[in-house]
Amino acid sequence: MLKVAIVGAGIAGLSCADILASKGWQVTLFDKGRKAGGRMASRRLQTAHGEASFDFGAQYFTVRDRGFAAEVARWAEAGLAVRWPEAREDAWIGVPAMNVVVREMAARHDVRFSHHVSGLAREGNHWRLLGEGMPAEHFDAAVLALPAEQAAPILTLHDFELARTALFARSQPCWTGMFAFDEPLRHDEHILRNHGILAWAARDSAKPGRAGPESWVVQATPQWSTVHLERSPEEVAPHLLAALHEATGGHAPAPLAQSIHRWRYALSAGTGLGSLWNAKQQIGACGDWLLGPRVECAWVSGRMLGERMVGAAQEVAA
Ligand SMILES: Cc1cc2nc3c(=O)[nH]c(=O)nc-3n(C[C@H](O)[C@H](O)[C@H](O)COP(=O)(O)OP(=O)(O)OC[C@H]3O[C@@H](n4cnc5c(N)ncnc54)[C@H](O)[C@@H]3O)c2cc1C
Repeated sequence: MLKVAIVGAGIAGLSCADILASKGWQVTLFDKGRKAGGRMASRRLQTAHGEASFDFGAQYFTVRDRGFAAEVARWAEAGLAVRWPEAREDAWIGVPAMNVVVREMAARHDVRFSHHVSGLAREGNHWRLLGEGMPAEHFDAAVLALPAEQAAPILTLHDFELARTALFARSQPCWTGMFAFDEPLRHDEHILRNHGILAWAARDSAKPGRAGPESWVVQATPQWSTVHLERSPEEVAPHLLAALHEATGGHAPAPLAQSIHRWRYALSAGTGLGSLWNAKQQIGACGDWLLGPRVECAWVSGRMLGERMVGAAQEVAA
């Protein structure tokens, strides 16, 4: 049985794991985060008016690929995903939070959370993971399911061609604010787009399947986020709040609770390559940056890599 280590348990790593596991490979995923989701991230904040919940990464996902449509239909059937027509006619979200669909995928696999992989060591024909608390295990193959900027330094030591592809794939950052209020902001619309430094804001408490106090997610434009990338969350918070108030007509209660998150690698450029695989070294990469800056692209990329690895292994065996 072939043993593979997948670094990154976002939707790309998990869809790759699904394919490999279905063909009998022994898959272990390692993620530096404490729980599943990656950029399909959700968070709860305690307030005096109850728990406020936020989707602070991907806001919704769309479905075009036939395989992904089948996966989403399964999630919908299980009550884990619903449509969100207010955002887009073809938009879907996880319920009661965006990260539940990734959590459901992760539950099928051996995922080691809180494991930050700093590198890979080639030992004979095998891979060993480097980083604090890593097992002394050897793997036949290694997959990097990380944003390009995080995959590149790990790839550089082992396959410069793959590393070069990753080095040229640039992502845009996104400063994101989560704000809970004790009363609804006086604004009829639940979604705001392109107001000054605000690229997008959504009333998360009004999304289907949500409960809790009035809560808003506010995303700054890539331009503003780039210029202010190294500022602290405390410095950024008032700008995001002011942008929300301006866009909602100037009504300005102080938030009950707030949290600010910097996504350094939010939206990938997309190389269109689908996946990367070096059959000789048994190392590859998948993720949104290999197709486009969307949840569906990440899922498809993981799938493509899994199928490619299985196909290559069958060729060797034949
Ligand atoms: C603010 C924002 C808004 C977005 N809006 C949308 C949207 O509306 N619609 C849409 O379709 N898409 C949207 N996206 C993009 C979408 O979220 C991504 O395309 C998709 O989730 C990427 O999945 P992935 O598995 O490729 O990467 P990720 O989800 O980033 O997964 C990578 C995983 O690798 C882990 N990791 C990283 N480095 C290491 C390491 N060294 N060791 C171990 N683990 C590591 C991370 O913890 C993470 O869990 C948005 C993204 C952001 C950030």
